[in-house]
Order: sequence, then C-alpha cells, then structure tokens
Amino acid sequence: MATKYIFVTGGVTSSLGKGIISASLGRLLQAHGYNVTIQKLDPYINVDPGTLNPYEHGECYVTEDGAETDLDLGHYERFTGIHTTQANNVTTGRIYQSVINKERRGDFLGKTVQIIPHITDEIKRRIKLLGGNNKYDVVITEIGGTVGDIESLPFIEAVRQLKWDLGPGNCLVVHLTLVPYLSATGELKTKPTQHSVKALLENGIQPDILVLRTEKNLTTDIRKKVALFCNVEMEAVMQSIDVSTIYEVPLLLQKEKFDLIVLKKLNLPPKENPQLKEWKDFVNRIKNPNSVVKIGLVGKYVELHDSYKSINEAFVHAGAMNRCKVDLQFIHSEDIEKGDVNELLGSLNGILVAPGFGDRGIEGKILAAQYARENHIPYFGVCLGMQCAVIEFARNVLGLKEAHSTEIVRNTPYPVIDLMEDQKGITNKGGTMRLGAYPCNIKKGSLAWEAYGKVKVSERHRHRFEFNNQFLKAFEKAGMIATGINPDTNLVEIMEIPSHPWFVGVQFHPEYRSTVKEPHPLFVAFVKAALEYKEKTGREKSMKKDTTRVPS
Ligand code: GLN
Repeated sequence: MATKYIFVTGGVTSSLGKGIISASLGRLLQAHGYNVTIQKLDPYINVDPGTLNPYEHGECYVTEDGAETDLDLGHYERFTGIHTTQANNVTTGRIYQSVINKERRGDFLGKTVQIIPHITDEIKRRIKLLGGNNKYDVVITEIGGTVGDIESLPFIEAVRQLKWDLGPGNCLVVHLTLVPYLSATGELKTKPTQHSVKALLENGIQPDILVLRTEKNLTTDIRKKVALFCNVEMEAVMQSIDVSTIYEVPLLLQKEKFDLIVLKKLNLPPKENPQLKEWKDFVNRIKNPNSVVKIGLVGKYVELHDSYKSINEAFVHAGAMNRCKVDLQFIHSEDIEKGDVNELLGSLNGILVAPGFGDRGIEGKILAAQYARENHIPYFGVCLGMQCAVIEFARNVLGLKEAHSTEIVRNTPYPVIDLMEDQKGITNKGGTMRLGAYPCNIKKGSLAWEAYGKVKVSERHRHRFEFNNQFLKAFEKAGMIATGINPDTNLVEIMEIPSHPWFVGVQFHPEYRSTVKEPHPLFVAFVKAALEYKEKTGREKSMKKDTTRVPS
C-alpha cells in the first residue's frame, strides 16, 4: 500500500496543541492497526532548536539518532511509542541550508534559485522522504506556526502542491482552530475559525477536517454553522475540549469519531474494536491516584514549565505506574542560593536536579544535592544534576573544597567533571555535543539494576562534560560508586550512593525515553522511593507526636 499523508495546520492562535492533536491522531490510527510516523515542520531559521534558549522555545528534545529537535517530537514518541529521527523535524533553516549547499555545488545548473520551486520542492522532498520506503501506512506532518504567518507560507504552498500531486483519498488536511467563549455574553464564537479557514483557502487549501479547540461543548448549531461557512462536511467538524490531562485527548477525539472520519477519507478500513484498553487504563490511573508525592524539580528555567517538558511527562507516566499523583514543585536554583534551604526543600519527598548549562544557579543545585544526601531524601540527578551531585560529594565528603566542573571554573584544581579530549577543539555550538543513544552497562545489585531489571541498556545523551575517571577510585572508596559505564569508552554514566535510600545521578537523559507504554524504569523507581520516604517520615512524625502526648 502506498503511504498516505495527513497534514495538520493551525489557525487563530499558536499553542492550541497541534502537537497533541497530531500525536493523538497517530495513536488512534495505531489502534486501528496502522503504522504511523509523525513529522514536524518548523518555520524558524535556526537549523535546529539545539541552540535556542529554553525560555524561547521550551525544551530541546533529543532523538535516538542524536537529532536536537522540537519538543513536539517528545509528544509523538510518548503517545505512539515509536522512535523519531532527524527526518521527523525539519526547520526552514535546514531547508535553506540544503538548498544553498546544492546551489554552491552547482546542482541547479545556472538556474535562478527561488522559493518556488526550489524551497517548496525541498520541503516536499523532506515530507515524502519519510513515506518513501513504504515503511509507514500514514505519515502525519504537523506544520508549525499559524496560518497567515509570512514565514509558514512556503510550507503551506508545499502542502497545497502535495495535495494536488497525491489526490483525494491519499492525503488530507486537518486544520485546528479556536472557538473562543465570551463569558460576558455567554457565547461561543466561530468567526475566528471562519477567518482562519479563509486564510487557508486564499493559499489554495480547502481543509478536509476541522478540529475546534473549545472550553465549552459545541452545540449542533455551532457545528452546522462552521461546516456551512467553511465548506466542510458536518461530521468532519469536531471539538477538542479542554481536559485535565493531555492523555485524555485521544479518547475524546475518538468519541468525536475523528479516527473513523480520517480513515474514511483516506480509504483505509477501520478496525471494529480499536486497541485502546491499555491507554484507557493509563488515563484511569492518572485520574484516580491513591496517593500524592511531592517532588521538587530544581532548575534555572523553572518559570517556563515547557523547558522541562519530558521530565514533567516522565513523572506523569511514573506516577501512573505507582498509582500516585506526582505533585511537581518547580524550584528555582537561584532561590536556594539566596534563601533558606530547609524551607524550600524540607517538605519534599524527593528531589530532582535538572539538566542545564552554564553557571547561573549552579551553587543552588549543588546545595540541593547536599541537602538530599545529608537528609536521606531520594535524589535523582539528571545530566547536570548528576554532575552537581558529583561536585558536592567531592567538596563535602572527599574534602576537595574547590572541586568543580571545568564548564564553570576552567582552572579548578579538582576538575571532577571535565571536557573529554574529542570535545576540546570544538568551537561550533550547534549539534556538537555528545548526542543521541549510547550503550550503558549496569552493575548488578545497584539501584539502577533493580530499576531496569537488566544489565545492558541504551540511553540518550545531550552534554559535553563527563565524570573525570581520574577521581573514580577516591569516590568509590568514600561511598559514591559508578554503577553504569559506557562499555566502549569507559565513561561513567550512572553514579549512586549505596548507603543512601535512593541517590542516583545519570549522565544521560532518561526522560526522553519515557512513554505511556513504557514509563522509564528510573523515574518509576524514583517515585516509588519518594512514596516510601513519605510513608516513613509520616510514620516517624506520628510516632513523635504519640510520645509527646500527655497521658490523661
Ligand atoms: N552542561 C552540562 C554538559 O554539557 C550538562 C548538560 C545537560 O544537563 N544536558 O555536560
């Protein structure tokens, strides 16, 4: 069967959740037995989002093959469980870069190189590349930005041409818009949707399906009105109502028969009983937790929660596995430097120190690691969070007061975290870190081994600096041991303190691999440890209360 293509565009405003709609559609099609992949086209000129400040664009997601990508790819993987690659995220910058490289090579044989056809052809090539080997039944392509933006025009034009090339039945356009609710008059308004569809039509695209984001249920009248004015069949107008968890979106869209309409329009047979039982169980567990644990996420980009998207979601998955809600408290590492550590961290059941770059707030992260170690609070250090735990241990247990990472203090006398030889000559920032999946051997009997239940794993990386093996003996003698090692390079991937209830630092990013189907074992184990810690400290507190009670 030739691959079918679905394009997801957005109108009215940004942040309506095109990524979640695309991921949900992917999951629904899988439930009908189809092989899908999801791609994101981003209209900015950065070649990839790797060099973007998280405040600008949220987290940078990393794929198995080491691509630094838009965070929506994280949603695609979490919902579908399918690995994405560099080909799944294409920016305007990447398109231009390849067209300009071709021009320099002389591939255009004297022709004037133009947006149409050269840029649009390159966009079309990138879209078709994914479906090229017929590996997928359906390729879903999400077009970033909002219809009407100057910068997304070439993408919209490429979609128009592809729609014409492929013909009906092989391709369709889903357009996501907003139906705002005016509380003053108590009305839902369809005009922005009409205008947004008009903008699409001006670019030659008639959407096949409209998904309307709304905070109130749409009446039949509203659906009829939108269908009539936007030239879309009534059954192809559906709502996507605000929900408490994004994982409910596929189920609600299924209620709207989104899957059936898409399949009908693509001439693909539906399954009578689409496979969504596990998904429903998962949503059920999120919505009905038995308990709550309070976990602190210590970082420096905490004002924008999207900066830690994958960590956030990994906690949702791990919470569901443990039948508890993870109440994630975002704590600014600079506040720890300035404030009262006890007050900020004292009531937490677990502490995660987040990934990051540069010196801002680093001492706060080191203090958080110290607080967790000394107070026996479960600790999970991710990438920079692992490096901070190592620095803290060097300073306060090994007595190397000036220990640091050479990322922060280049000439530290104790470079416990240091740059590897092959990173030393690199000056370009984009795409030059240790990126993507690397193997890791786990030490039997360790906390990591208990969590994974195996000795060979593979995890994704995004960093330049590493644990300096010259110090390993001293660390292990003093009680912090390496329990995960890269078998090819001998680099330390996991550090643990066996005398602590749960203290694990990982040089890689486990959060990128956590999905609904396979919550990450380390997050699951960390949440479990936090639950146990909460129960234990709760018991201790009530015992204390008991002994101080005055007998009557
Ligand atoms: N800045 C550190 C490094 O480059 C950690 C990076 C991270 O946390 N992703 O090694």
